[in-house]
Amino acid sequence: MPEFRTSPGFRDLLHPASSRQRAFVDAFASIVEAAGFELVVPPLLEDVGVFRRLGEATDVVTKEMYDFVDKGDRHVVLRPEQTAGVCRAFVEHRPAVPWKAWCFGPNFRYERPQRGRYRQFEQVDVEVLGTDDPQADVEVIALGWRFFAALGLSQVRLLVNSLGTSDERLAHMESLRTYFEGRAGELSEQSRATLARNPLRVLDSKRAEDEAVIAAAPPVSESLGDESSAHFAAVLAGLDALGIPYDVDDRLVRGLDYYVRTTFEYAGGTLESAQNALGGGGRYDGLVEDLGGPSTPGIGLALGVDRTLLACDDEGVFPAPIRAADVFVVDVTGGTNATSLTDELRQLGYRAERAYDGRSMRSQMKAADRSGAELAVIYAPDELADGSVVVRRLRDDGEQFTVPIDGLATTLAEHLDSLISNTGPKTR
Ligand code: AMP
Repeated sequence: MPEFRTSPGFRDLLHPASSRQRAFVDAFASIVEAAGFELVVPPLLEDVGVFRRLGEATDVVTKEMYDFVDKGDRHVVLRPEQTAGVCRAFVEHRPAVPWKAWCFGPNFRYERPQRGRYRQFEQVDVEVLGTDDPQADVEVIALGWRFFAALGLSQVRLLVNSLGTSDERLAHMESLRTYFEGRAGELSEQSRATLARNPLRVLDSKRAEDEAVIAAAPPVSESLGDESSAHFAAVLAGLDALGIPYDVDDRLVRGLDYYVRTTFEYAGGTLESAQNALGGGGRYDGLVEDLGGPSTPGIGLALGVDRTLLACDDEGVFPAPIRAADVFVVDVTGGTNATSLTDELRQLGYRAERAYDGRSMRSQMKAADRSGAELAVIYAPDELADGSVVVRRLRDDGEQFTVPIDGLATTLAEHLDSLISNTGPKTR
């Protein structure tokens, strides 16, 4: 038993899981950068006040924050999500609007760890600040949808809803309060406690005993004014125009309090219901102002990397990239030949690997096979005396030939280019 292990809900990712996570972020980057989003890298640590608007009654704020007082007496928190930090950065730097930003990285919530739920988890995220055009909502929702398709996922459901303006949301909350108070006796004990803090959050309950009461609760659509209804209709029409299927779910409130008007969620078809949200988002038109900035509408989306990858496992898509070398340099003559040749090949842009510790020819050839390389370059005493090396193809026919050491890296590069173009592109 090692003395130190990761804390519950925290994980080490080694290859191939680590490479897969990186490929995931790269795939997301290429989709959102093609749509004009710029990368923003906010710090992991923020003033605790930045997250106040997630909701004084949300578990994220009341129970799950990794907050502490630092050595300078600042009350800080490891970010539980990314939107509020991006909005804080917007207020601090005031980039031109519309500001289309994307980010990725870890978030921290003190949750009960289980499959698809960790205390440190990764999200990728996009935010559009400075426009309340419903087409921006459509663009953001569509980006997530297209990204899931690009991963190869086919069992994702898109749920959409509108919560109305903050006044309408408040009105809805009051009608929910009246309704739930009337049926409080039928609710679970936990939901009764939630009701006292925020009746909207009762809708988040996944407990079986609450199901019937929630199903009959007044829908938010009853509280929407004309403008909110028109905005929502434009969002739905935009999704129709793109051929993106969705279900309107008027119980969808999402777990954070800053959402107004459009909210949406992507539900994975293969995961258990408590952990089936692959991601989601919505409008947060008042958030920038709450953080001390000018009134600025915003809409964003956050996708959980870990959970989406679990859905990929279930559907058998988006495997970890294969990490294969191009060349493996075998040297049984000692000295620095392998060091020099791998260095030269790497400078030419190839993946070159080698063995260490002066191992036997047999053991180095085994390592060469394991590396997945196309070619092995073998420094053997006889050929070396003639100023040449043996080059062996490690796949297909295992063909072998001698090549002069003079100009070796260039000769190898030519061979590799023709091999790579014959076998098709490899993840480089
Ligand atoms: P939220 O920021 O709560 O809207 O969550 C957005 C997405 O992040 C969720 O749909 C999940 O995929 C992911 N997520 C949230 N909390 C966790 C967690 N504790 N562990 C793993 N993924 C999470």
